[in-house]
Order: sequence, then structure tokens, then C-alpha cells
Amino acid sequence: MTTNKIDMTPAEFRQAGYVLVDRIADFLGRIRQMPVTRGEQPSQLRVLLGQEGLPIEGKSPGELLEHAADLVLEHSLLNGHPQFYGYITASAAPIGALADLLAAAVNPNVGAQVLSPVATEIERQTILWLAQFIGLPTTWGGLLVSGGNMANLTGFLTGWQVKNNQAGGNKKWKIYCSHRTHIWIEKAVLLCGTGKASLQMISTGNDGRIDIGVLESTIREDVENGFAPLMIIGSAGDVSTGAVDDLAALGTVAATYSAWYHIDGAYGMPAACLPGLQNMFRGRESADSIALDPHKWLYSALEAGCTLVKDPRHLVQTFSSHPSYFNFEGNGEEQPVNYYEYGLQNSRGFRALKVWLGLQQAGLNGYRTMIAENIRLSRLMFQLADSESALEAVTQNLSITTFRFIPAGTEVSGADPQIQEQLNRFNEKLLNQLQQEGNIFLSHGLIDDKYCLRACVVNFRTTEEDIRAMIATVVMQGNLLLKTFPLEGLAK
Ligand SMILES: *Cc1c(COP(=O)(O)O)cnc(C)c1O
Repeated sequence: MTTNKIDMTPAEFRQAGYVLVDRIADFLGRIRQMPVTRGEQPSQLRVLLGQEGLPIEGKSPGELLEHAADLVLEHSLLNGHPQFYGYITASAAPIGALADLLAAAVNPNVGAQVLSPVATEIERQTILWLAQFIGLPTTWGGLLVSGGNMANLTGFLTGWQVKNNQAGGNKKWKIYCSHRTHIWIEKAVLLCGTGKASLQMISTGNDGRIDIGVLESTIREDVENGFAPLMIIGSAGDVSTGAVDDLAALGTVAATYSAWYHIDGAYGMPAACLPGLQNMFRGRESADSIALDPHKWLYSALEAGCTLVKDPRHLVQTFSSHPSYFNFEGNGEEQPVNYYEYGLQNSRGFRALKVWLGLQQAGLNGYRTMIAENIRLSRLMFQLADSESALEAVTQNLSITTFRFIPAGTEVSGADPQIQEQLNRFNEKLLNQLQQEGNIFLSHGLIDDKYCLRACVVNFRTTEEDIRAMIATVVMQGNLLLKTFPLEGLAK
């Protein structure tokens, strides 16, 4: 027995750990046979947890871990399930589970080099590899953060600070992005104090990409009215449809107006590793900052986002300060990398380990195969939806496909708004029903006022058979729903 209540002897740790690892291995082996979700209500789960108050006396760790494994393995939504297509949440590489165990066991504080000597170097190498992964020179730098929101915010704050410094103070700033930009942008303008009025959400063309002509004329008009372009934001895989903006053209516009150029590639940027997609991602190197999420298309376990900047000194200029209570300058000849100076966090966990190990386990070629396969499956899904008489295929970009249910043999093109509204409510109900049932999990997207089912394939377990089965399930459930929710007024 240990002398205090929170430590474990090596023997206790080994015993409890082996049991837990066995259970996790078993879980990974049968994930395909499990439901994606059991759709349990919060009240049902609260009953499982028990209603007792704060524990006063302690319990044995082995017993506690058994109970926790029962709860977590059997009552979770499984985003690693091959039939999970909801939102852009990836299946997690199992090596990440072991990496997090190792990271937590040593518990380095990756805020300062002196507190995390080897972990800091692993993060630094991970960042260089991520830059290389997406085809950037290793003169770029950056850091890992919690996710896409923080990665974009970090790039945004850096641009804001750099441009304010250059301008010698606040101007009447305007910020430009497509109207499909993720909601992080609203938090960013809130934080910086430029406010929503500083945002110019530009329309997109039929291809879902920001309309460069509209962008240029909007900027010209703003400049004539005394505003200054602070930042141009491009999307490399927009969150609802996966469209990649014309990154090169946005870079040219940003250069013309000396604006900071940020790319939100939280989801899509890893696809820039594919030789066949070089044209789609052309111009990414002209950005000043790029956000990407290892916890999306690099299949890292949550949480791992990444901000890359062309000139890493910009991060330090923005975020560094040297309070009297830190002694992190190093006393050797080398200048240490202290990650607290690169972003908003101070104490920082060792999230780099799981990303670093995943990159080595699969290698660039392994990732190319998995990402290309996800794209192939998404395109196949679009074709299947297109050839199904009860489905309308709507968009397909990268590995995101949107489609909707329309009763077979009906004609809706140019249909009146009431019919569109009915179809929207029908597809919403269908989505909720599918989610509740728990065998497949889709999300939705509102595309040109059409409520669509949206499938994101960011999963190394999903196969062609899964895609075919999913489409068949949607058609079957849609036809069943028609019996209780008939659509009136559709022309036969
Ligand atoms: C997912 C996503 C985000 C937000 O990332 P989180 O990791 O959820 O914070 C931002 N932008 C895009 C394009 C995304 O797909």
C-alpha cells in the first residue's frame, strides 16, 4: 500500500493498467459491431453515474477504472466508428491513446523549455514536419493549440498585432472572408475589439469559393470610404462543403493592400500533401499564417490544433512577455524555444507526442493513402446519391458530400418556396431519426437554403461497403418516413 491516497505503487499501476489496456484493445477490436450512438438521454446517464455527492473517502484505483471503462466504452458516441460521418471529427489513431498515457505519466509542462526539455524539441520537430507535410518550407514555425478555433484565433491575433504595429495604431480596419467561414471569426473580432461591423463576409460563386471580383470591388469601396484592409481570410476546405478558395488569387489581393493573409485550413489543409491536388492548394505559401487541425485529417485524438506562421518571430512579438517570476532564458549558449511566448497558453500539455508518433507510424505515404481514400469514398457517395432516384446530390468537395432526400419520381427544380420548406423539414426529421437510431451518424448543411444531409469522411476505418450501406439506409428510412410525413404538392 502507498502511504497517501493518490499515489500508486508500481505493482498497483501495472495491475490496473494491464486490465485497462486489455479492455481498450477489446473495444478497438469490436468498434464496428457497436452502435455509433445509443442516443441515451442525460437523465438516463445521470442514473448510471449515481446521485451521490462528493466522495468523502477514497476508493481503489482498479475498481474505479473498471467502472469508468464500463461507462465510457459502452455509453459514448463513437466518432471512430466507420459509419460516423457527422461534423468534421476524425477517427482517432490508437497510438494517440498510448501517447497520451505516456505524456500524462511524465507530465512535462511544455510552456518553457527548461520544464520540458525533450517534449519541447518533440513539439518543435512536429511543427517542422507539419509545415513539410503541407508543402511549406521549414522556415515556417508555430505551435500546437487546442483545436481549429484556437489555431485560427492565434493566427488572427498575430496578424492584428503585426498590422497595428506597422500602422502605428488602430485604423478603421476591415476584415474580409467568405460568408462560409467558420464561426471562430465572430469570436476573433469580439476578442480584438474590432467588432462585427469590421467583418466583410463576401459571397461565394457556384463552386462555393469566395468571389474574387466581389472581394476586390468591396475592398475598393471600403478604401474609398476611409477603411483599411487588415486581413484577408481564405478557407482551405470550408466547414460546410469543403470548398477550397482560390488561395493564390487571395494572396495577390492581400499583397496589393498589404493586408495580413490568413488561411483557415483546419479541416482541409492536410490534403495539400496529395500530388494530384497541387493545383487546388496553389498559393498557400503566400499566406502569413495557416491554421490546421491534426485532430481532424491527421487522425490525432482530441485535442490538437496547429498554427503555422511564415515568420515565427511574429508570434513572439505578439505573445511574449518577460515577467519577473520567470527564469526561462536559459544559461547555456543556445536560445531555448519557450512555447508560452508563442501563443495564449502558459502551462501547456504534451499534445505533440500523439501527433509526432502518428506522423511516424503512417509516414507521409501512409497519410497520402488514407486521405486519398477518404476523398475517393466521398466522391463515390456523391455518385451513388446522384444515381438514386430518391436522393439529390448537392455538393462534393474534398471528403464532404451533401445530398438530400426527395421522393422518387417527383420534380422539384424551380419548386415553390413552400415545397422547399417542406423538404427542409422532412430532411431535418430524417436526419434526427437516423441519429436517434444510432447505426449511422450524419450531420447537416444549409446549402443555398436547402437543408441537406452532410457526410464528412475523415475516417481511416470507413470502407466502400460502408458507404453503399449508408446510402441504402438513408433511402430506406426516407421512404419509411414518407408514410408518416407525406410531402404535399410535389409534381409527379
Ligand atoms: C473544425 C473547423 C474549425 C474549428 O476547429 P475546432 O477544432 O473545432 O475548434 C474551424 N474552421 C474549419 C474550417 C473547421 O473545419
